[in-house]
Amino acid sequence: MEILWAPWRMAYIERDQPKGGEESCIFCDAARPDGGHSDLLIHRTELAICMLNRYPYNPGHVMVAPHRHGGDLAELGQTELVAVMEELKLATRVLQQELKCEGLNGGWNQGRAAGAGIEDHLHFHLVPRWNGDTNFMPILADVKVIPEHLEATAAKLRDAFRREVVAPGQ
Ligand SMILES: [Zn+2]
Repeated sequence: MEILWAPWRMAYIERDQPKGGEESCIFCDAARPDGGHSDLLIHRTELAICMLNRYPYNPGHVMVAPHRHGGDLAELGQTELVAVMEELKLATRVLQQELKCEGLNGGWNQGRAAGAGIEDHLHFHLVPRWNGDTNFMPILADVKVIPEHLEATAAKLRDAFRREVVAPGQ
């Protein structure tokens, strides 16, 4: 298996609910000024958030979303588009520096027909890649991820975002 991007599998990967028992949107929850109930939020700007995927393809699999609840890229305003792209850029740099990834897959699934697990709130996936990682990817994807590892990764990336915002790299 050489191709990682399998959007139809995202339905499984995105099957996640905010903590606290609410049946609300995980992205709206994470975008709240207090960070909501999310333990996976990594970074927030005025209009966008970056959070770790609870069911990652690879370590460091993050999702970037605009704050505003809505599922259609075509409805984003220019400032939101720029905010989302800037957050994707920042996340790319952080994943390169912190996890030493050798490549990245990125993209979004829009609509149920395209395999979106959470179709009502637009979000982009960014998956760090290393040479040869497809060999163990199918195994990793089906293994239940240990929460401590996720929290450790989230903390590490949070610090990296903080550093990158203060002293941006080239
Ligand atoms: Zn939402």
